[in-house]
Amino acid sequence: MNLHPDNLPSPAPDRVRRTIALLNDRAPDLIQCDVPLHRLTTLQIGGPAAAVCRIDTVEQAREFQSFARRHGLPLYFLGGGSNVLAADAGFPGLILKIERDTYLVRDDHVAVGAGIVFDDLIRRTLDDELVGLEFASGIPGTLGGALVGNAGCFGHEIAEYLVTATVLRPDGSVEILQPRDFAFGYRSTGLKESGSVVLEAVLRLARGDSGAARRVREEKLSLRRARHPWDQPSAGSYFKNLPPSQPGERRRAAGELLERAGAKRMRVGGAAVFGSHANIIVNAGGATAEDVRALASKMSRAVHDRFGVVLEEEVRYLSAAAGSVPDR
Ligand SMILES: Cc1cc2nc3c(=O)[nH]c(=O)nc-3n(C[C@H](O)[C@H](O)[C@H](O)COP(=O)(O)OP(=O)(O)OC[C@H]3O[C@@H](n4cnc5c(N)ncnc54)[C@H](O)[C@@H]3O)c2cc1C
Repeated sequence: MNLHPDNLPSPAPDRVRRTIALLNDRAPDLIQCDVPLHRLTTLQIGGPAAAVCRIDTVEQAREFQSFARRHGLPLYFLGGGSNVLAADAGFPGLILKIERDTYLVRDDHVAVGAGIVFDDLIRRTLDDELVGLEFASGIPGTLGGALVGNAGCFGHEIAEYLVTATVLRPDGSVEILQPRDFAFGYRSTGLKESGSVVLEAVLRLARGDSGAARRVREEKLSLRRARHPWDQPSAGSYFKNLPPSQPGERRRAAGELLERAGAKRMRVGGAAVFGSHANIIVNAGGATAEDVRALASKMSRAVHDRFGVVLEEEVRYLSAAAGSVPDR
């Protein structure tokens, strides 16, 4: 355990607590106060959030955002919590947990709520004889998280399938965005830093051989079972893969450099590098966010010292500083 005194969980400041009590009176069934973030993240780490608001409709998202704006409360949007490390001190504001999971098929298009569990979406589209997303089988989290992080694997990414997305902007306006508005990059979008939240999306899939697509799904799921730590909490790959050394080549796996730099033997407190994949940090028992951050810097330092390469983190740090206060 490596819990720095500055990071000790602290109760939400009184003003935040009083403000949230007002909100709680208005929508008690949608709000929970003092929620430990370790319950909402796949790494199972993190102190208390002052409040977590479940979002099922566009109107709820607008209402909570406007409440935060009026009271100057920080906001953070969360999907499945599978790509975040939550701070030991928690979050002194509102976490909007996007749970909208509507699902509607029309021809080869599917219109879905951003809170739908991404793997459920893949299974349901295959049941509806729509193919395309099976490459991503087993990626944890929600569609919204996949879109803002441009999730991908095996040479494909979610950006290839997006037609439009409904987004709530920090100023309270709702816009329909085109793929170009997302500024998709490798495991990134321009949207991620903008304080906007994705609420719905339309994806274009294809009518095709769903039997073959199901076989691809099974193959990807068994590869994941073999390579990933299913019985230990993690957030998947901690660092992004590196740009290709020559144009047209594949990205270089960060895991390979980490392995050659000796990362597999590294551990700090309860955080350890997964034995079968040097780019995955697991919570091996009682890990704190500070353990994970110290381990991540040890890993990236080792790669820098050995290869002169700077690794970029893929996992997002959910701390007080990561919250945005909506535009007034
Ligand atoms: C075992 C394991 C395997 C994984 N394998 C892969 C893989 O193969 N490929 C891959 O790309 N990723 C992988 N991941 C990482 C992760 O699952 C993906 O990045 C996933 O898409 C994150 O979705 P989420 O809903 O959990 O997002 P969260 O972790 O909840 O959030 C991630 C970021 O997105 C933001 N966000 C979430 N929802 C919204 C929304 N609706 N609107 C605006 N912002 C939002 C959050 O604020 C945060 O910044 C893996 C993770 C694990 C644990």
